[in-house]
Parts: sequence; structure tokens; C-alpha cells
Amino acid sequence: MTTLFEPQAPVIVATSEGNGFPVRRLFCIGRNYAAHAREMGRDPDREAPFFFTKWAETVVLSGSMIAYPAETANFHYEAELVVAIGKGGRNIMAVDALDHVYGYATGLDMTRRDLQFEARDKGRPWDTGKNVEQSSPLGIIHAANAVGHLSTGRIALTVNGVVKQDADLADLIWNVPDVIAYVSRFYRLEQGDLIYTGTPAGVGAVVEGDEIVVTIDGLSDCIIKVGPKAHD
Ligand code: MN
Repeated sequence: MTTLFEPQAPVIVATSEGNGFPVRRLFCIGRNYAAHAREMGRDPDREAPFFFTKWAETVVLSGSMIAYPAETANFHYEAELVVAIGKGGRNIMAVDALDHVYGYATGLDMTRRDLQFEARDKGRPWDTGKNVEQSSPLGIIHAANAVGHLSTGRIALTVNGVVKQDADLADLIWNVPDVIAYVSRFYRLEQGDLIYTGTPAGVGAVVEGDEIVVTIDGLSDCIIKVGPKAHD
């Protein structure tokens, strides 16, 4: 059967092995560094892990310019370690979780903070705050068999060369095996899924013209420029 229109092509991210990683779904962990939970006005000692989802099409490649989104006056960066799932599974045990990891990348969970806070405070969904067009920039995915599994190392973000976020992956409240185990209790993880593991303290707003660079020890940088609003 012919289709009415061309199905949307998958987003494909380059890997360190030279092939492409087709992106399936995005799972994003919230408030996973204690200092960031506190800057969001929450007590990190009292929370179970939680996550929200974003469309795969929000992924854009490092080196891109992203449009400043509509309907916000407080567009925030969040530097994150991203886990690329290479093997699916349900109810994965933390002790087995790293077997399901293809690799790791630097990423950004760009956020309409004003809409996220309004939704949070009214008990409404976070979609318009988080599932923003072009809001999930991603660097090259480095295969775990080349760089190893990441549990420590510096994660940092600069805006126009000024350091805004500077932390260590060891500060994650729920580490990579923990978040894989948690998410897979609710959804069968599939190859192509990405888990954005949460951001450290120091989030803040960007404006048109800003350049954002995310650095994680052992990985390629994720570099994004903020452009004008989309008009199409
Ligand atoms: Mn985030």
C-alpha cells in the first residue's frame, strides 16, 4: 500500500564507531543532582526518582543552531549525561543494566522554565515546558566498548565561554544502572532509546546569539547556538 505522505524519517545520531544510532524515544530523569533539586526548591532526600518523556524529533545534533522557542521568556539550558540504549528489556536489574547500554553522549535538556514551573505549581503536565521543539541537543554517541561505562568525571557547561554548571557524574543521586532499572519498570526499554540522566546545579536562561557548550570527561562536546524565533 502506498502512504498518503512520506513517514517521518528517524533522527540518526553519529556514533564514535562511524555508524548511525537511530533514536526511538527520550526518557528524562528529573532532579537527579542534590544541589540542582535544592535550587528548584525541592528536598533531594525525600524524593523517589521520576522521569518525563520527550519526542525523538526534539533531538538535534551538536553544531546546530536551535530556534528560540515561542511562548517563553525564560529558556534554560540543562547539561546532561545521555545514555544510549543498545539492548532492550523490561524490569532490568541494576546489576545487569550496563549490558543494555550502547554508549554515552553529552546532551542538553532545553526547557521553557516559566512554563515548567507554572505546570508544576498547578499540577499540570510538563509537556509544553519540556517537550520543546529542538530541545534535546546531542553530541556524538561514544560506544561503551571504547570509552567504558561512566560513573565519575567532570560534567560542565559554558555559555559564551563562561562556566555556568560544573559538577561530577559521581554526584548523580540515581546512577546509570539505577535509572535504567527504574525506567524499565514502567516501559520496556528498546534499542534506540535515550535516557537523559538529569542536570547539575547552575541552570539558567539563554538568549538569541548565545553559544552553549556541554563537556563531559571522555566524551565529545555538545555545542549549540541559540538562534532567532522560528517564523515558518
Ligand atoms: Mn533535565
